[in-house]
Amino acid sequence: KQPLVFVKGKGSYIWDVHGKKYLVFFPGWGVGNLGHCPSRVVSAVKDQVTKLIFIPNNYYNIPQAKLAREFNYWTKYPFKAFFCNSGTEANEAAIKFSRKFGQQKRYEIISFKDSFHGRTLASLAATGQPKYQDGFSPLPAGFITVKFNDLEQVKNAINDKTVGIMLELIQGEGGVNIANKGFVLHLRQLCDEHKLLLIIDEVQTGIGRTAKMFAWQNYGITPDVFTLAKALGGGLPIGAMLVKKEISEYLKPGTHASTFGGSPLVCRAALAVLRTIRKEKILASAQKTGDYLYGKLIALKQKYEVIKEVRGMGLMWGVELKIEGKSLVEECIKKGLLLNCTHDTVLRLMPALNVAKKEVDNAIDILDEVLKLTPHLS
Ligand code: PLP
Repeated sequence: KQPLVFVKGKGSYIWDVHGKKYLVFFPGWGVGNLGHCPSRVVSAVKDQVTKLIFIPNNYYNIPQAKLAREFNYWTKYPFKAFFCNSGTEANEAAIKFSRKFGQQKRYEIISFKDSFHGRTLASLAATGQPKYQDGFSPLPAGFITVKFNDLEQVKNAINDKTVGIMLELIQGEGGVNIANKGFVLHLRQLCDEHKLLLIIDEVQTGIGRTAKMFAWQNYGITPDVFTLAKALGGGLPIGAMLVKKEISEYLKPGTHASTFGGSPLVCRAALAVLRTIRKEKILASAQKTGDYLYGKLIALKQKYEVIKEVRGMGLMWGVELKIEGKSLVEECIKKGLLLNCTHDTVLRLMPALNVAKKEVDNAIDILDEVLKLTPHLS
């Protein structure tokens, strides 16, 4: 925890309790894809909160139905949605779905080293980072972890118990590692050949982060199952698992459920997020600003030898350093810029999708200053 208390936010800015203003280049692991308090979301929530906050899922509610329909506008393929409250729950639902799909004969999921799928026990078992699992054994069985982007290892791991392959297309917590396009196309092929589920965890990459609504849309594939959370509710807690309609019957109503999942209030917020992205053509501008930010980061790489690599997509960028990044992040915070360091050495920049070029310039100036002031770095 940083010793900071925030009291107000608007767009890419946030103010602490002393009135100090910060530029946010890491809005809550990607929750704030539209920045703080986006106006359409604020209005939708204000309206909905006076009408109907909650109704249990043994009844239908209109915002939930509209949200499911809006998903299908974006997927261009019929999917059915299960609503829950977080990323780990969405992945838990995907894992439970795969068990039903495997009909108690196949249950094993292949996941990847350095992945992160959440902290409930099954999602944790799928996570390929022992540091998150330490002290929580025994974890549920049925997971096998192989090297990311290594097709041979995946092929060798498939056996008659395998039911699916689960991955993030950009491993966020694992160090902003990008899945190769050829690798993902082959995974799709392997899943088709062996009747496996291709499960994509879009909890961090979804809702426009890569300048497509879902990261899988950069790869020319359609997953069988994918999961969303973080940015979906514009800051309100909502998660979703989407399953291709033709296989969705494996998880019948009543076999899995969530009391709060898909309440009218959070679904109105999520609907407002998706409609803002559509109406304000946010994906196109995110692509442009993302390219601009990439250019600036590459310029920094040329200037500072300590930068090993710049990698990412859309507005999700990792700057891998040759040293640990924690102290740089702390210096940036002192200068009013919030960013993150993951996997010890990777600075992670994920500004709001509607961040202005001027704000990108400001962030880069601060980062430049911090890199310059760190004597052993340049
Ligand atoms: N999956 C991915 C890819 C994530 O990055 C995260 C959180 O960082 C999760 C799942 C878990 O989401 P939550 O914290 O909402 O449970």
